[in-house]
Amino acid sequence: MSNPSLLILPGDGIGPEVMAEVRRIIDWMAARRGIVFDVSEDLVGGCAYDKYGTPLHDKTMAKAQEVDAVLLGAVGGPKYDSLPFAVKPERGLLRLRKEMDLYANLRPAQCFDALADFSSLKKDVVAGLDIMIVRELTGGVYFGEPRGIFTEGNERVGINTQRYSESEIARVSRSAFEMARKRRNKVCSMEKANVMESGVLWREVVQKIRDEEYPDVELSHMYADNGAMQLVRWPKQFDVIVTDNLFGDILSDCAAMLTGSLGMLPSASLGAPMKNGRPKALYEPVHGSAPDIAGQGKANPIACILSFAMALRYSFDMGAEADRVEKAVEKVLADGVRTADLMGPEGGSPVSTTGMGDAILAALDASL
Ligand code: NAD
Repeated sequence: MSNPSLLILPGDGIGPEVMAEVRRIIDWMAARRGIVFDVSEDLVGGCAYDKYGTPLHDKTMAKAQEVDAVLLGAVGGPKYDSLPFAVKPERGLLRLRKEMDLYANLRPAQCFDALADFSSLKKDVVAGLDIMIVRELTGGVYFGEPRGIFTEGNERVGINTQRYSESEIARVSRSAFEMARKRRNKVCSMEKANVMESGVLWREVVQKIRDEEYPDVELSHMYADNGAMQLVRWPKQFDVIVTDNLFGDILSDCAAMLTGSLGMLPSASLGAPMKNGRPKALYEPVHGSAPDIAGQGKANPIACILSFAMALRYSFDMGAEADRVEKAVEKVLADGVRTADLMGPEGGSPVSTTGMGDAILAALDASL
């Protein structure tokens, strides 16, 4: 059988710095666990524009369609701010998401005990938190027609349309149920079925998919406004939350901030299953290219490393190896190893990007 394949797109700014630490973990897995990935690396974003005049070359796009998973660092930077819209670095990322048809955006909110003080909520509310928001990414009010600003009588009206088909709801609910089966087997679906017809359909379809295909998964329904309240009241009641594009945008940011720093947050975007049964997938940290600290060895590589751990779990069915990486991260944080973004007001001596990588590799060694 051939090795699992991974396309790495480090991108701009701190992207290559944090990705270098992932490369060290990939090398560690080959040397110490005998798990070998076929890794290829290419350009995306500003660096691709510099070389090819486009933020994503067609051959890179084609490669992304072939591999088992894509891992991206970050794109963008002030150097590219004045470029025309069509060739801005972010267009490369958007093209990947669109052409791979990545309709399920996964945003975990996981709070490592050692960082529980970083949250704006009380420690006992967030310590040990581990939830996953599955946000529908390619439909809903951000794309529905009609849309625009029109004149009616003597004033203008702004119009957007929430629109979901049964098949769009069904495929993202399957992503959520599959996810739940790899976690604690519980899904909460959020919509506003009390005031929106699209919400009524959402609720019906999610329930039908559960009853017909995932009877082993526990499903509950909640209005999204109550969901927001429950997320800050007692977030540990949730395992997987599935919701539409708009509510998911808001709820995932809310859940992410339960856990502290941007340098800690991974994400995944999944599409339809490929021939091998695995979903098309793009993994990336939530943060951007952080031009203010790029090139200084200050970036926290954990978000990118945890994105790789998500790839291990969701694209490669290597849950035990994903656990190993996550536990190594947990251990270094518990030992007090901190990059600058994780220093509290009391200060201390932060480690560099490579220093954090060294500590995680040492923890991986210790795990054997
Ligand atoms: P940003 O996420 O790059 O940075 C926001 C703040 O968080 C900065 O102070 C930065 O230093 C800090 N930060 C971010 N990641 C960090 C890490 N790993 N370790 C330590 N500190 C970290 O957002 P921004 O400043 O709004 O945007 C900068 C550039 O990144 C822009 O060009 C923007 O378009 C782009 N961007 C790209 C993505 C992406 O590639 N997915 C996402 C957001 C922004």
